[in-house]
Amino acid sequence: MKPIIGISSNLNERVLSLSSDYVEAITKSGGVPIVIPNYQEEEEALKIVQLIDGLLLTGGGDIDPTLFGEEPQSGLGSISPERDASEITLTQKMLNLNKPILGICRGSQVLNIANGGDMYQDIYTQTENKNLLQHTQHAPRSHGSHYVQVYEGTKLSEIIHLEKFKVNSFHHQAVREIPQDFQVSAISSDGMIEAIESKSHHFVMGVQWHPESMKNDSVSLAIFKAFILACMK
Ligand code: MN
Repeated sequence: MKPIIGISSNLNERVLSLSSDYVEAITKSGGVPIVIPNYQEEEEALKIVQLIDGLLLTGGGDIDPTLFGEEPQSGLGSISPERDASEITLTQKMLNLNKPILGICRGSQVLNIANGGDMYQDIYTQTENKNLLQHTQHAPRSHGSHYVQVYEGTKLSEIIHLEKFKVNSFHHQAVREIPQDFQVSAISSDGMIEAIESKSHHFVMGVQWHPESMKNDSVSLAIFKAFILACMK
């Protein structure tokens, strides 16, 4: 049976939105997508996680820094407190049930925050690194612009069987400290964390890039297929 995949959505000025790239990536890989609005009520969130077989945390705006113990710094972009609350609640409930989660871009950061990690509000104003790559590419969305190095022995490395590959990049925030039971599975050449995964869950993975937009890319397809397969178990 095809697994039901809940896809988180964006909330801005009372409008819910979602790129159809996510929906397409899920259907192409054999999942049945349903779009999740931004709920805050515990009971509703619980019903949703009982219904879905996997959660796809999608890209979007910045995360409220008070959720990881900081106040807003100058480089912080726009935030949505409702979306933060909704996604963190859903994530924690999915983790409790050990159901699969794939976090993309902002979603990878949500995974990290929901588990007690923290992040850079803005890598360009918060790191001393003068050799930071261009992580908000001006190239087309589907274009792999920078490389990532994959760590051996990680789930990501098992899925894609490559040490190094190109990804697209649309972020100015990044994961900084990861939770204790997580590991880094890929970094960029400037040392930014580009992928994380849980060591204690069946399939809980975050990637900083946007595989859903890299059409016909074998690595991107492999990640979605592995996620859907995990949702069937
Ligand atoms: Mn990047």
